[in-house]
Amino acid sequence: MSFIQLTDVDLVYGSSGGKASGDQTLAVSGANISIAHGEFIAIVGPSGCGKSTLLKLIAGLVKPNRGTVRVDGADVCRPQKVGMAFQNATLLPWRNVRDNVMLPLEIVEPYRSRQKADHDKNCARAEELLATVGLSGFADRMPWQLSGGMQQRAQLCRALIHEPSILLLDEPFAALDTFTREELWSVLQDLWSSRKCTIILVTHELREAVYLAQTVHVMSARPGRIVKTSSVDIARPRTLDSTFQPDFVGLVHDLRDHIGRGKKS
Ligand code: ADP
Repeated sequence: MSFIQLTDVDLVYGSSGGKASGDQTLAVSGANISIAHGEFIAIVGPSGCGKSTLLKLIAGLVKPNRGTVRVDGADVCRPQKVGMAFQNATLLPWRNVRDNVMLPLEIVEPYRSRQKADHDKNCARAEELLATVGLSGFADRMPWQLSGGMQQRAQLCRALIHEPSILLLDEPFAALDTFTREELWSVLQDLWSSRKCTIILVTHELREAVYLAQTVHVMSARPGRIVKTSSVDIARPRTLDSTFQPDFVGLVHDLRDHIGRGKKS
């Protein structure tokens, strides 16, 4: 059964409803996507095809001009309690790592009302979470004292501290060097295995999509629609060795082929 369901979704930027024209942009057209509870999916496609827009639709930050977006059986009409992480870690430079991680607890209920009473407990939770991503002992550091990869690890903790059932990741590792990026694939796989939240990863790195996801959805060029959905039947935990296996390489080629075709359609 679907936990997240997009049905025939169109999204037009710069409109108050109706069709795209003039300075309006039809970003997503007739998108259908179904995601099970606890599933890890990746969305790939050419730049500007509407991948981030799909995330915004699921987060309730934009509303479809046509079609429906449903989460857990209910129409998405307002911003949802999700975790989000982006290409830039966007840690607040005047807060140490622990206080950055705890930021959502100042905003999201029921944590917000209890933040004073639960302060010590929340600090301990933040530090436990930091330990799971290899940042034990870094809670008191300032963001500028961390490498780019460490900042991304902290950002993942901030996205998870309020225990969202959905984690939306928009190119979270795109700015990192290859080695750091590949290390973080393993970190993210472990987080997903231990927490079992539903993860939607937008990426242009096809190896990353196949390494991490159970299902990869390919979008066509704008206006984006889903042109191919592939299951990734590769045993877990996946490792860098998995990326050299013939079935892994074959799937990456197949996805690349579909993206190429989607660009022409
Ligand atoms: P992707 O994530 O695949 O690169 P996006 O979802 O960010 O693509 O954008 C899809 C299209 O919508 C692009 O042409 C982009 O320029 C346009 N777009 C995105 N956000 C806005 C916005 N807030 N206002 C107007 N156009 C936008």
